[in-house]
Amino acid sequence: MLIAGNWKMNTDIASAVSLAEGVAREVGTVDTVDVAVCPPFISIDAVSVALRGTNVRLGAQNMHEAADGAYTGEISAGMLTSAGCRYVILGHSERRQYFGETDEGVNAKTRVALENNLVPIVCVGETLEERRAGREREVVETQVRNALKDIDLSSGSDLVVAYEPVWAIGTGETATPDQAQEVHAIIRRLLEELYGGTAKDIAILYGGSMKPANAAELLGQADVDGGLIGGASLNADDFAAIVRAAVDAAAAT
Ligand code: PEP
Repeated sequence: MLIAGNWKMNTDIASAVSLAEGVAREVGTVDTVDVAVCPPFISIDAVSVALRGTNVRLGAQNMHEAADGAYTGEISAGMLTSAGCRYVILGHSERRQYFGETDEGVNAKTRVALENNLVPIVCVGETLEERRAGREREVVETQVRNALKDIDLSSGSDLVVAYEPVWAIGTGETATPDQAQEVHAIIRRLLEELYGGTAKDIAILYGGSMKPANAAELLGQADVDGGLIGGASLNADDFAAIVRAAVDAAAAT
């Protein structure tokens, strides 16, 4: 089980450090569930210091696939590991929607993240129009296949997939536990086709308005292995409550 907070473009350095300290105070010793926060690039270093000695890991929200060079404004995998990152979110729907991120780009970044010992959190999910048209299976399968094209895995724990229905992100709308489980099971079967027995160790996170009130039910689904949390991760109490729901869900399986 992994609970990861995506802080998006929120917090300045001082408030990022105090949020990280709050998270560490509440759930910094949790060891039955993996916990991570993904601050804006500018705060990663300061948050890394604030999290030192705790079990809370660091992640980034994006990266460039090149190792270095003339890519103004970009950050490489090596830079992220040098700052203490273990995870990197790739292909978030906001990056696809606002910054032209493509499946091909996500594939290149996923390969480079793995080569650099970063765990990619590969985000997939259908839009409202696609769901209304009954196309969620086709859309999600295509995104997963494309993101993982020609990528080998030595261990399932090297990769995380996040199912984030676009219509549920930041909208207050949440997929029902049944809707989430249905798509997670589709992703699991596809990962089994691609990676055989290793697929059972690939965490499939749900993301989309997960909060303390709905976390237990979502995390209780058979193929939901954690959550990618946006809005609720900006409040240490709410984020900690979701982590505790994950601890209970992990203990129940
Ligand atoms: C996200 O952006 O990854 C996300 C799940 O956001 P929210 O929890 O705010 O819907």
